[in-house]
Amino acid sequence: APDGTVVIAEHQTAGRGRMMREWESTEGQGIWMTVIIRPDVAPHQAPQFTLVTAVAIVEAMKSSFKNFTPEIKWPNDILINGKKTTGILTEMVAEADRIQALLIGIGINVNQKIDDFPEQLQTIATSIAIEEGEPIERVHFVANVLESLEKYSDEYVKNGFGQIKQLWEQSSGTIGKRVKATTLREVVEGEAVSITESGVLEIRQANGEIKGIYSADIELLP
Ligand code: ATP
Repeated sequence: APDGTVVIAEHQTAGRGRMMREWESTEGQGIWMTVIIRPDVAPHQAPQFTLVTAVAIVEAMKSSFKNFTPEIKWPNDILINGKKTTGILTEMVAEADRIQALLIGIGINVNQKIDDFPEQLQTIATSIAIEEGEPIERVHFVANVLESLEKYSDEYVKNGFGQIKQLWEQSSGTIGKRVKATTLREVVEGEAVSITESGVLEIRQANGEIKGIYSADIELLP
């Protein structure tokens, strides 16, 4: 597939999130797509494309809809009013020193009504239509998302992480909050203070020590 290939499905029978968790992809109601890009960057930069994509989708939402403010939940979700509307899953095909391809998987709940979600998701998921208060033309919004993704991934490849980091932190619902991060090895509690150049979430613990989190489940604390 050439750089920039987009694959869009009306339905997914085996949509998934991180760690093979199931991603519910109601037929005809969402944007279920993978964007394949071949950026000239090193493999360790791959996780930043999740952050670039989150910024691109949030900015596309802000320019397309007026009744809500989307928030990014580190590392890969976009929430509206605290409920999940979008998941991003970046996967990589690489040699030791070179990315062959990044597969940026994007799932956006667009036109579902609350009853369209399975019961276990009804309290944690939402769609753009629910939050905006009207049905959405998916084709226009997909075009906005793709334009935005092209803009911010070019920005990242040309100029580095500076602007993306700033936009990411502005839209983050995680930075400045008390969080509990559960990694495979430990549980870290404290204030989420920033993300680093490589997308690592920094948490300031009660003893003042700053801990970098590469991958975890994040829960906001009261
Ligand atoms: P969490 O949301 O708990 O932090 P995560 O970010 O690791 O988890 P993902 O891997 O991005 O989650 O997505 C999988 C999870 O998202 C599922 O376990 C389910 O709880 C939830 N989910 C599945 N389908 C949808 C959907 N269409 N909309 C919103 N949430 C969904």
